[in-house]
Amino acid sequence: MQFEYPHIKTIIEPFRIKSLEPIFFTTPQERQQALAAAGYNPFRLHADQVLIDLLTDSGTGAMSARQWAGMISSDESYAGASSFYRFEAAVKDITGFKHVIPTHQGRAAEHILFTMLVDSSKTVLNNTHFDTTRANIEALRGQALDLVIPEGRQPQTLHPFKGNIDLGALRAAIERIGPANIPLVMITVTNNSGGGQPVSMANIRAASAIAHEYGLPFFIDACRFAENSWFIKTREDGYADKAPIDIAREMFSYADGCTMSAKKDGMANIGGFLAMNNDELAQRCRNLEILTEGFPTYGGMAGYDLEAIALGLYEALNPDYLRYRIRSIEYLGEKLTAAGIPIVRPTGGHALYIDARAMLPHIALEHYPAWSLNNALYLMGGIRGVEIGSVMFGLQPDGSEKPAAMDLVRLAFPRRVYTQSHVDYMVEICAAINQQREKVTGHRIVWQAPVLRHFTVQMQPLP
Ligand SMILES: *Cc1c(COP(=O)(O)O)cnc(C)c1O
Repeated sequence: MQFEYPHIKTIIEPFRIKSLEPIFFTTPQERQQALAAAGYNPFRLHADQVLIDLLTDSGTGAMSARQWAGMISSDESYAGASSFYRFEAAVKDITGFKHVIPTHQGRAAEHILFTMLVDSSKTVLNNTHFDTTRANIEALRGQALDLVIPEGRQPQTLHPFKGNIDLGALRAAIERIGPANIPLVMITVTNNSGGGQPVSMANIRAASAIAHEYGLPFFIDACRFAENSWFIKTREDGYADKAPIDIAREMFSYADGCTMSAKKDGMANIGGFLAMNNDELAQRCRNLEILTEGFPTYGGMAGYDLEAIALGLYEALNPDYLRYRIRSIEYLGEKLTAAGIPIVRPTGGHALYIDARAMLPHIALEHYPAWSLNNALYLMGGIRGVEIGSVMFGLQPDGSEKPAAMDLVRLAFPRRVYTQSHVDYMVEICAAINQQREKVTGHRIVWQAPVLRHFTVQMQPLP
């Protein structure tokens, strides 16, 4: 058969399913009761009260048969386990950094790094600090300054790399604050809190050059390094023919170190690492690690976690996987846009972000439009997303309240977990809410914790 082979447009899940996990159907009345019992905070729901769980892509992915196989043959030795050396070799192969310090998750890497570098006189610069990154800096009385490009703060503006750091603002901030008061410059790829938007290679290269010009270390918050590599491949001139792994290597080549949550592009359920080239800093970090995480060849992880990550880092860079992953989010974005629902555009790497402020203009900012929309998604269809807005970021270190730059609902996709029919269901639920959006009411806070309040806050819907 001498076919002509057409370009096939349908991008399919690049796996078949071997092991099944049920999902849980509930009635509207059951969801009303469950949400009330959770203090109107979806973080406090029991997972078996949720049908489609898009709370986070962190640690919620499906592992491959190869990863499970690696886990069963792990080495659980306390010191010097072969699993650690496989993990270390994978991290070094991809990042090129000299020192690899395992941690139980990303925030532990942040905590160790910032404890060495941050005090009340210090400011860390970043495109956008993720919530745990900011909280770890502020817990040490330091300042966390976000310098994303203006397009990155405008949900509807199209730009291929909305996660880019504003290079002019970066230089101005270093001049204003003074290099002596800046322990490091960071860049978060992709920019999670700014809509999962990618950062271009040109921007990473230029930000690194500016940091180094002032003698400042440049670190990557690398949680989604593989997804960022895919965006560079598909959107930046000169990278179309490069493999994601080589793009990742180039990204890391501009940095002096990175923090990483292996729960994201490590394709594991737990884990993380801190990596760097500076010998002296690495030694001091390992000393603290022994105190808080464990011996430096396991750092709070089991040997099987190290195995899962050693394989997962490569699986995350597989082009067939990345094509499917980025397409899943884009597909949801196309359908929601067609239904008239305002989303952050273009769609990002790990999640779709609904612009709740634009969708629900009748809800005042102090009544948390994104929190309210997220609760509506649960009530309507058992979907759990997360508010990225004024509940997450509005509480200031001095206890006052200020609306966040945006009020978004993030629908984060666990890796390799849901299929296209799940996405079609999400579209139908979102459209049903949009048709009755004036019925969505705001919320007020009944109880809150002083830091990272969104995890435990208790709310009351307004009448
Ligand atoms: C998840 C995440 C972190 C923190 O990692 P954990 O493993 O959750 O502690 C830091 N930065 C970014 C960008 C993240 O997405």
